[in-house]
Amino acid sequence: MTANEIRDSFKKFFESKQHAIVPSAPMVIKDDPTLMFTNAGMNQWKDIILGTRDPEPRRRADTQKCLRVSGKHNDLEEVGHDTYHHTMFEMLGNWSFGDYFKEGAIDMAWEYLVDVLKLNPEDLYVTVFEGSPEENIPRDDEAAKYWAKHVPEDHIINGNKHDNFWEMGDTGPCGPCSEIHVDSRTPEQKAASGKTGRELVNQDDPQVIEIWNLVFMQFNRKADGSLEKLSMNVIDTGMGFERLVRMMQGKHSNYDTDVFQPIIKAEQDITGLKYFTFEEETVSPISKEQDNINVAMRVCADHLRAVSFSIADGQLPSNAKAGYVIRRILRRAVRYAYTFLGQKDGFLYKLVPTLVHEMGDAFPELKAQQQLITKVIKEEEDSFLRTLDKGISLLDKAMEELKAQGKNQLDGVQAFRLFDTYGFPLDLTELICRENGFTVDEEQFNVEMQKQKERARNAAAVENSDWVELKPGEQQFVGYDYSEYECEILRYRKVTQKKNEFYEIVLSATPFYGEMGGQVGDQGVLVSENETIQVIDSKRENGQTVHIVKQLPKDPSAQFMACVDTDKRDASAANHTATHLLDYALKQVLGDHVEQKGSFVSPDTLRFDFSHFEKVTDEQIREVERMVNDMIRQDLPRDEHRDMPMDEAKKLGAIALFGEKYGDKVRVMRFGPSCELCGGIHATSTGRIGFFKILSESSVAAGIRRIEATTGRDCEERLYQMEDILNSIKSFFNNAKDLQGVIQKYIEEHDHMKKEIEGFQAQAVERAAQRLVEKAREVNGVKVITSVLPMSPAAAKDLAFKVRAAVEGSLFCVIGSHENNKPQLSIMMSDDMVSDHGLNAGQMVREAAKLIQGGGGGQPHFAQAGGKNVDGLSAAVDKVIELANL
Ligand code: ATP
Ligand code: MG
Repeated sequence: MTANEIRDSFKKFFESKQHAIVPSAPMVIKDDPTLMFTNAGMNQWKDIILGTRDPEPRRRADTQKCLRVSGKHNDLEEVGHDTYHHTMFEMLGNWSFGDYFKEGAIDMAWEYLVDVLKLNPEDLYVTVFEGSPEENIPRDDEAAKYWAKHVPEDHIINGNKHDNFWEMGDTGPCGPCSEIHVDSRTPEQKAASGKTGRELVNQDDPQVIEIWNLVFMQFNRKADGSLEKLSMNVIDTGMGFERLVRMMQGKHSNYDTDVFQPIIKAEQDITGLKYFTFEEETVSPISKEQDNINVAMRVCADHLRAVSFSIADGQLPSNAKAGYVIRRILRRAVRYAYTFLGQKDGFLYKLVPTLVHEMGDAFPELKAQQQLITKVIKEEEDSFLRTLDKGISLLDKAMEELKAQGKNQLDGVQAFRLFDTYGFPLDLTELICRENGFTVDEEQFNVEMQKQKERARNAAAVENSDWVELKPGEQQFVGYDYSEYECEILRYRKVTQKKNEFYEIVLSATPFYGEMGGQVGDQGVLVSENETIQVIDSKRENGQTVHIVKQLPKDPSAQFMACVDTDKRDASAANHTATHLLDYALKQVLGDHVEQKGSFVSPDTLRFDFSHFEKVTDEQIREVERMVNDMIRQDLPRDEHRDMPMDEAKKLGAIALFGEKYGDKVRVMRFGPSCELCGGIHATSTGRIGFFKILSESSVAAGIRRIEATTGRDCEERLYQMEDILNSIKSFFNNAKDLQGVIQKYIEEHDHMKKEIEGFQAQAVERAAQRLVEKAREVNGVKVITSVLPMSPAAAKDLAFKVRAAVEGSLFCVIGSHENNKPQLSIMMSDDMVSDHGLNAGQMVREAAKLIQGGGGGQPHFAQAGGKNVDGLSAAVDKVIELANL
């Protein structure tokens, strides 16, 4: 079976078991402050599990794009070195939210693996939670009982809390789990090892690995550590797709399957190097060098996927947060390709077509954005390779110095600086040092690293207290229809961030729009009979609006009116609507390749990032502005559809964003020809925007442009400002009618006069040079010229060169000049004064400049110095003559 067929069979199987087959959520998470990337299938169901979202349909299944490179799950360092951990992988999963529980999950998993896929049951082992006496949780006998229906006792293994008890976080849903492991050793390996598969489960044997984890959520952990029963039992399973494909294709490395082989083949074609599959390695053991090549090819094949998928999801490499994680993955690949595959120029971007060819059908976002992915990867590679070059030359210099000092160890601080400032990882530094006979002080490096981590931790530390529950229930959002609404507080908690304290409040019903989709959160007040509380911000968490307040109401159980600041909200709404019109107009003017890549909408401004591969010209900007302003004047009414099935929305031509999470029912926002899926707050009609003006257009990353624009009242203010400036300029020119003509004339006159003055100056310098040469004294066969004159530094330099040109034979000339009370000292001499008399103008000018409180330098035959003390100028000239000692 091919990988694509296996993926389909999983979906088909669970569909036959009444599961709704749902799409993968984006890999990059945008509205959860605790998680940057999806690292398991359950992430997108967190709010259902926490009870804040409707659990219907209660049976679901999917394949989820996951990335495990940060936080709780970080497999980055393993990737490439082993053959079964990836950064990005697909997790096949099935869920039951209060429907079937342990028995159903175990039976279905077994049926799929053994009856449908025909894996050999003798190679399968399962684990069950052994129990925890301290926590008073017994062994999971229930799971063991259901497994015993399918496997002999000696294939059931007890597992400890670390492996077999799953927790969402420090608090929240948790429960025991059962893993399915596969013994994929060859018969020869089994015979040679003398160990049973059972003995190798969870022992890091690369051929006896976990493929499927079934989590049985049945407890809720409270902040004091105690457990209570969960109100709804949840089944959450996750199976590594790439590992399953490997078992099904009878391979012994994920990289030998058709998921990775096409990419590895492309790597071999480009580099001219060979990759050895597991079978080939078994036939003839490979050298250390070849192993490095193998590892590097795996790293590149894996990281290519992670980086491409994340770019397709809208997360570009950058300097902060999620973007930085992606940049680090990409750089890791570049480093391996550079060091072990001899790729000194961009390499990964050349693999994109193969990836798109293989995975583009299952993941159309790759196909649609191939050009952008390629461009971004290439630019990142180029820029990091330049950094590598710079780091290598710094390292070369450091090693030279060490050699001069007779040392053979690079200190850890230096190694850390290379890492921190130049992205130069320790192993590369070590490799290069080793090749040159040096070692690196790794211990000190680690100390520096630890220090930096602590600095980062202290800066970011956020402490959340437990939620204080006042009333049970879910929040109702009424912000699309109301800006004021009656409500009660459901729960609140205290948050401490960088020593700042504030409270988060969840209301029973709220008109507040929490920050989402680039639109900033509403501000406003909560009013009760006795007090008024300011809401300084609102954000979205697990599908609810969380209101941020500095202080809690004295009586939190009172009835409140939640009132949004409507001035600010109306301004935001107008800017958001303008953003949609802008998106539409850009597509019309620039073409269909324009994709939204980011947006920010606040009451004061709007910002829109989009894919486009060159600068937007001034004419195009005007055309876009005119188109948007036409739509504003047409006063197109808001046409909103709140619960439209996705299919219908697509038929309407609504624009969806890559990397955005949509449910089956979506909200469609239409203004005339502009039609988008959007959850934001919008103006009631386009006329409310007033006017639209683009302020700037710039590049933010490879292939991504940014437009900043403004609307309505702000445009009006800017118009007045410009008018004021224009009026004041006019007044400089006696309110001339033809202002441009008059200014043009002034500029021409100015240029003309400047040229004339330069001509006069040149003549004056010429005459001065003649005079000086005539006045020259002769000392021991050297023509000596000294003079103090009012003159600009440039003219003095000119003069010195003219004198030199006019004098034949030996010359020594010192000119003190001054302009605007600033002294300048210039020394000029003929070449024989340097070669025969051993004089050096640079040194002399530095010494003499002390008398004018200045400094300078230059070449041996000509040097200049500026200073502050014009009164010392004559003395400085004399000093030079004295130093020359002619
Ligand atoms: P392992 O111990 O092998 O790292 P895990 O305990 O971290 O696995 P889970 O968190 O239970 O794995 O994830 C469920 C399944 O996802 C695993 O059984 C495995 O098949 C797959 N999986 C986990 N991590 C990776 C990874 N980095 N690359 C590929 N597949 C993975
Ligand atoms: Mg793991």
